[in-house]
Amino acid sequence: MWPTDGRWNNNAMMVGGGTRLYGAQAWRFCPEDFRMASTYGTPDGSSLADWPISYDDLEPDYDRAEWELGVSGDPSGNTYAGPRHRGYPMPPLPPNGTAAPLRQGAAHLGLSTSPVPLLINSVPYNGRGACIQCGACVGFGCPGEFKTDTRNTAIPRAIATGRCDVLTEAQAERLITDAGGRVTGVALATEAAGVPVRREINADQVLVGAGAIETARLLLNNPSQQELHGLGNNHDLVGRNLQGHVYAGALAMFEQPVQDCVGPGPSISTNDYRHHNDGVVGGAMLANDFVPMPLFVYSLGSRLGVIPGWGTASKTAMRDLYSRTTLVMGPVQEIPNPESRVTLDPAVRDRFGMPVARLSGTLHAEDHTTAAFVSDRAIAWAKASGATRVVPLTLAPTEGPSAGQHQAGTCRMGTDPATSVTDAHGRVWGHDNLHIVDGSLHVTDGGVNPVLTILALAYRVSRAVAQRSTGMRG
Ligand SMILES: Cc1cc2nc3c(=O)[nH]c(=O)nc-3n(C[C@H](O)[C@H](O)[C@H](O)COP(=O)(O)OP(=O)(O)OC[C@H]3O[C@@H](n4cnc5c(N)ncnc54)[C@H](O)[C@@H]3O)c2cc1C
Repeated sequence: MWPTDGRWNNNAMMVGGGTRLYGAQAWRFCPEDFRMASTYGTPDGSSLADWPISYDDLEPDYDRAEWELGVSGDPSGNTYAGPRHRGYPMPPLPPNGTAAPLRQGAAHLGLSTSPVPLLINSVPYNGRGACIQCGACVGFGCPGEFKTDTRNTAIPRAIATGRCDVLTEAQAERLITDAGGRVTGVALATEAAGVPVRREINADQVLVGAGAIETARLLLNNPSQQELHGLGNNHDLVGRNLQGHVYAGALAMFEQPVQDCVGPGPSISTNDYRHHNDGVVGGAMLANDFVPMPLFVYSLGSRLGVIPGWGTASKTAMRDLYSRTTLVMGPVQEIPNPESRVTLDPAVRDRFGMPVARLSGTLHAEDHTTAAFVSDRAIAWAKASGATRVVPLTLAPTEGPSAGQHQAGTCRMGTDPATSVTDAHGRVWGHDNLHIVDGSLHVTDGGVNPVLTILALAYRVSRAVAQRSTGMRG
């Protein structure tokens, strides 16, 4: 299929990965997110489990990610947030126009609210300027370098040490193992003048961070005599428990203009529905959404039946509705199941001859229940805020598993090699020098956007590798 197909489950393939194009919402998971099975039990057909680490274990790395990379926000009003040893390095960005009615509605309903934390400079930070709030955040590289990504923070810092080389346009197609099955390096493929060029790099330590789908693909494409079905896969777990986020909420239409196109857009949230909702396993954070591209409003509006598909009526509705509309929605905490998975396609290969990823499985039934609950809460919030027309909204895969831009879970961490792919420091079971540093590690994906947790885990894993290899402390 083509990348324009929703089933492609897109993320960004470039230096900096998803952080180049993301919306930069920078949420921490809350304590319950790390112990979903203890909090809710394990629903039938699911692989819901606790993480091998707690919120408190990851707190120092959340703090490090927030301060080294730079997050703007205000932690007060965030129900279910875990303890933090300091606030954010920058104050929140000024709110978007859609926040004012939602603030009134929240007060009416007695909801706690907080600004949305963002990896975007609200004041000059890290040698880059403060955001001018142009609104071209989600899906775009920031035109002014106000949005933080790993290409304008962590990667140049690493290069400045003199101990880091970045090879672009190169694809890891295999990890090299010796006769004993020990990882000794990486095999790369690239292209020069249309011809594949191959290169091998020896390594004492290998850290894989290719995203939840591509990391699983790489390990699965690596059978050895010791591990016939791929690296770390003797228990048939690599690639399983693929998950992402169903989005649930409401399209809210007001009598008066509310959408002022001041970016990034998400500026008021409630975390009251993250957990402990009657009859629901988990929940979601709800917030106003990014400044929408007109095409997005058109395609969503026509799908929901509020904008005619073509002709003058369509243009009139777009002109009339764009400024009076906002989305209130959030990422539903999904319940992982082992049948949602990445395998290697037996027939289709990429340009270098590597089998492409094949995705299979479906959402768990609980995901639909949670989405309906969250959408219902968004409708209530929008109506209490004065919206005169509110349409329920669920963005979920119509076919196949959930993954998309929040893909996670395919090499989950744990305490037992029989039920997990890595230990609590991301080290692949059975390998002393192979680690995972991306969303694959997530046991569950939280009821918020995942990137801050991915970044915090990368700090945790990398520190453990450095400590082991150099005897470094702290
Ligand atoms: C449009 C969009 C909006 C988003 N908004 C938010 C948000 O507001 N908040 C949030 O928390 N998250 C958001 N996300 C999600 C977030 O960006 C991802 O969760 C995060 O980037 C995933 O990190 P990762 O390290 O797991 O993988 P990635 O960021 O996908 O990084 C993987 C890297 O590996 C490279 N790679 C892959 N395969 C190979 C290979 N074989 N050889 C060599 N290199 C390889 C890729 O090029 C990429 O650089 C968004 C994502 C997108 C696309």
